[in-house]
Amino acid sequence: MENYKNIIKEIYSDVKKVNDIGKVANYIPELAFVKADNFSVHISTINKEGFGVGDFDKKFSIQSISKILSLTLAYKLEGEKLWERVDVEPSGNPFNSLLQLESDLGKPRNPFINSGAIVVCDILFSHLKNPKEDFLKFCKDISDNSTLNYNKKVAQSEKDSGFRNIALTNFIKSFGNIKNNVDDVLDFYFHICSIEMNSKEISEIFLFLADDNFTTRKGERVITKSQAKRINAIMLTCGFYDESGEFAFKVGLPGKSGVGGGIVAIHPDKYCITVWSPKLNEKGNSYKGMLFLEKFTSKTTSSIF
Ligand code: GLN
Repeated sequence: MENYKNIIKEIYSDVKKVNDIGKVANYIPELAFVKADNFSVHISTINKEGFGVGDFDKKFSIQSISKILSLTLAYKLEGEKLWERVDVEPSGNPFNSLLQLESDLGKPRNPFINSGAIVVCDILFSHLKNPKEDFLKFCKDISDNSTLNYNKKVAQSEKDSGFRNIALTNFIKSFGNIKNNVDDVLDFYFHICSIEMNSKEISEIFLFLADDNFTTRKGERVITKSQAKRINAIMLTCGFYDESGEFAFKVGLPGKSGVGGGIVAIHPDKYCITVWSPKLNEKGNSYKGMLFLEKFTSKTTSSIF
């Protein structure tokens, strides 16, 4: 940990000085109110050590990072049948694209693009009695963190401006791959995206993907080892939309980004690290987040390759 601490401090101060060419997401109006120069890093190891720099205790909208949590719960409840409805191939397209759905007959390429995450939400909606409450409880149980919550303003803001997601859901429904009411599924999806966490909380909640022996405070496993392996594999190949290859190439870890500017990366058997910097590159991934992680895995020589 001492080694990680020094390297994190050093890279943090280097990357802080870099001119940020990214832009804060504003297609969800409420997200544009965030202070653009927030910058934080937090690492949590499987030995339960943690270290952070910058605004790591400031909550932000985790957006698509939540797609890992919705996938985890759906996989747990639905098992392998899940893959009949969502594929596991990189899309090579932007996160909100409608393009491939026509030729793929409404089966999204993977669970980390919007179309795939919306189908995952539909599956959860069919399983859960009180979808929003039950999903939040699942997140609280894994992280042993009762402060987690949705940001209703962000969810409403996305509902008011989410034309592409509305189009995606209706389009998928026309192929029969959405079983529930479109408005209900979207409301659930927008809430899941609006969950707020700080960098420390994010690096802690995903330890179940880094640590094969992870159990909750009640002593329960979150998912099987094989399921964790598969989720990590999809993060590596699809976690950054049409920049997934670039992230694997530069950082070499399974990871997932969100348009709130957060990135989480997992080193299986070692750690989980989160970086938050709200300005995004043209692919919708945090500009400084990617830069930080590239330097971090290079300096620590701790990628999976
Ligand atoms: N809620 C966002 C959307 O659907 C999530 C996208 C993201 O974080 N990449 O557009």
